[in-house]
Amino acid sequence: MEAWREIFGTTSMEAEAHDADRYLEMLPTLARKAEFITESVGQSTGGRTLYALRRESTTGAAPHVLLSTGIHGDEPAGPWAVLSLLAEQALSAAVNWTVLPLINPDGLAAGSRENADGLDLNRDFKLQRSAEICALSKVFDAMAKVDLHLSLHEDWEYDQSYLYEINTGARTSFAEALLECAKANTGLVEAALIDGHTPCAPGLIRHAPDPDEPEGWPEAIYLVKKHPLLSYTLETPSRQPLAARIACHRAVITAAVAQLGGAGGFYSKSSS
Ligand SMILES: [Zn+2]
Repeated sequence: MEAWREIFGTTSMEAEAHDADRYLEMLPTLARKAEFITESVGQSTGGRTLYALRRESTTGAAPHVLLSTGIHGDEPAGPWAVLSLLAEQALSAAVNWTVLPLINPDGLAAGSRENADGLDLNRDFKLQRSAEICALSKVFDAMAKVDLHLSLHEDWEYDQSYLYEINTGARTSFAEALLECAKANTGLVEAALIDGHTPCAPGLIRHAPDPDEPEGWPEAIYLVKKHPLLSYTLETPSRQPLAARIACHRAVITAAVAQLGGAGGFYSKSSS
């Protein structure tokens, strides 16, 4: 919690959560302290830097985790969860990381879901009309493999969290462990229909590797067309306090990577 105070300064978290420029100013320093390489991969529509962070495992051949967040600017918990884990140097050394911590910095600054041109970036992976997704799709295309994709989101329509899973790699599902974490932090949505989908367990949507909208591909669908994938999209409830939502994202990231097993684990052997 000390690192959180350092990050958020003296005013309230909620007040600072949309300060995208402060976020982007702190990010390279905190990433360097955590021994990540920070690379500028492009610029947002509004001229802010788009960063990718990378770090190789210290323990030899290891699974590759792609952690991405901040694609919707009105969903601040994911980016701040990532920044706080960097500040605490708490991201596992047992896996290779590619981290996209803030895909839509203009949206975060404006508090809007869309980018500065009014585009929903998480529906732009097929048509690639935005500067942001043109830049990030190149990062995805250059990746040789992704063993685990974690995408952090928020939803203002629900009072608790829920999880999407896409699993095309014949891997064991981590969903149960992740749902347990989410339940402990924010509770789980118990509705019979979540975001238009029928859950297969409380708070869990197992999604086919196909888009809901033919032209409106989200990130996970773009990735699953390229890689056999285990992908989780966590949605925390915007109505709950920001601290609880950040804690939920942090716990789910940590639990997912622990499930992966690290170098020498099942996934590093089976994912060639
Ligand atoms: Zn979202």
